[in-house]
Amino acid sequence: MPGPFSSQCLEQIRAASDIVDVISARFPLKRAGANFVALCPFHKEKTPSFSVNPQKQIFYCFGCHKGGDVFAFIQAYDNVGFTEAVRQLADRAGIPLEPEGPGGASRVHRLKETLWQVHEQISQRWHRLLTEDPCAQEARDYLAKRAVSSEAVKLFRLGYAPESWDDTVNWAGKKGFELGLVEKAGLIVRKEKEGRTLLFDRFRGRLMFPICDEAGRVIGFSGRILRDAPQTAKYLNSPETPIFEKRRVLFGLDKSKRPILDAQFAIICEGQLDLIACFMAGIKNVVAPQGTALTADQARIHPL
Ligand SMILES: [Zn+2]
Repeated sequence: MPGPFSSQCLEQIRAASDIVDVISARFPLKRAGANFVALCPFHKEKTPSFSVNPQKQIFYCFGCHKGGDVFAFIQAYDNVGFTEAVRQLADRAGIPLEPEGPGGASRVHRLKETLWQVHEQISQRWHRLLTEDPCAQEARDYLAKRAVSSEAVKLFRLGYAPESWDDTVNWAGKKGFELGLVEKAGLIVRKEKEGRTLLFDRFRGRLMFPICDEAGRVIGFSGRILRDAPQTAKYLNSPETPIFEKRRVLFGLDKSKRPILDAQFAIICEGQLDLIACFMAGIKNVVAPQGTALTADQARIHPL
């Protein structure tokens, strides 16, 4: 069996990953008798020859002859190796891959899991504030001025971090997240002052852009001020954390990967709002480096 996984572990993940669900999450399938069909994502065609068999849990294209099980599908569609495909499906099913125990690997993995969770939950909170809360009116006005549609706000899960020193600190307390952990996530900052420890929100009064990894998990943020002020950085990014290595991340790649594979080239935008504007105009093979110069690592992330 390839990779570091036991066959028992693989079977558990396979059983939890219905191939119809997994594929439907990426593009729509249409029922055709006992099977499902779609236009093949792996070659250009006008009539559907891509077929999914839920009984056998396999897919097959009668046009280009690509086929296999759910792992093979993720490998081909997301253009990843077997190990990464297994990891993605395990994450999706909530199945831990590392053996439990005092070992370092599992501890690091658990830390990452918790950091992903903190990021996901604060994203939801900030998104809800932006779309519903009176405190975010200025942010909504700014988006209207930049002609960012509500679909784009939803697709990119934009949010608003309130103008407050302790909103995130209090939120973490209510959610039962340890402050040390939220600090590790880069969402709050610790300062020692005259023998006292101060904890305060890193992002205050900013429009928030969640930065996702290729699997679509939120791993960091970029926050933009709403009023230009000479003393304040226009964009503030999350610091490096165990799940966020700036030089290895491209904003938007989780959404543009497939279009880039189709187009066979990528357009590099300067910033998040440029990328969102391209998406709204139907140009989706785009990525944006994190506000800085393009790094060699980012250039290497290409999914081709
Ligand atoms: Zn095909």
